Amino acid sequence: MERGEFAGLSAVVTGASRGIGRAIALRLQAGGVRVAVLARDKKALSEFRRALVCPCDVADPAQLSEAIAKVDQAFGQVHLLVNNAAFGGPLHDLESTDDAEWARYLATNVTAPFQLCRHYLPMMKKQSFGRIVNVSSVLGLAGGLQSAAYAATKHALVGLTRSLALEAAPFGVTVNALCPGFIDTTMTRGRQDEALAAIPARRFGSPEEVAEFAAMLCRRESGYINGAAVTIDGALLAGLNPA
Ligand code: NAP
Repeated sequence: MERGEFAGLSAVVTGASRGIGRAIALRLQAGGVRVAVLARDKKALSEFRRALVCPCDVADPAQLSEAIAKVDQAFGQVHLLVNNAAFGGPLHDLESTDDAEWARYLATNVTAPFQLCRHYLPMMKKQSFGRIVNVSSVLGLAGGLQSAAYAATKHALVGLTRSLALEAAPFGVTVNALCPGFIDTTMTRGRQDEALAAIPARRFGSPEEVAEFAAMLCRRESGYINGAAVTIDGALLAGLNPA
């Protein structure tokens, strides 16, 4: 029998092979959650102890359906869904973003979370309890140079979050978006020099700090936080940076 603040709950965490997703999966496990971890890197996923390992490309609907079927067979019920997997892509201007790259952004960052929400929200409504955390970005709330496609998908995720919260709220289910600023992961590696001056906190955040915030949103006591798009960014979006 699992013990901890989340004892008895099951979760699906996408993009759990490294970075923020891995930290969230570990944090939920530490609280007693049975966690299913989804990502393409099977070897990295197999390093989890006790997790249900579901290697898949979430951008491929057939693979995603297979992973969902595996989770549902093993867990029966899912209470927490963390849509974290995303394609970060290279920074470049709009004219350098070809259709294949745009399609990859949409499939990974928007369609996969949409499909997972469409599958699990009805289950959560029936259970009269559920928590969906969509990992968006500060680029889900503001634009970014050389980031048009990425920012468009992260804005879409915020729109999905807010709209689903309206459907979910009467049933005791919350849907929130987490909007990290610069977090120290492979997605931002090599960008410290260029970015630090813009961050009022003068440091990157850690995956563990984001995981703690995600866990807070998953708590039963957080039931009145719904439809929010909350930043965790060292004050990056708080206002014009005087530096
Ligand atoms: P990361 O270290 O690059 O990790 C990305 C994760 O997503 C990996 O586990 C990767 O696993 C998974 N993933 C990517 N494409 C996938 C696919 N097609 N199918 C399945 N899994 C896939 O990035 P991160 O920084 O932890 O980012 C996590 C989330 O935070 C993303 O939504 C990102 O947009 C958001 N975010 C990050 C920052 C930041 O500064 N780091 C800032 C704002 C928002 P595999 O490669 O094994 O598939």
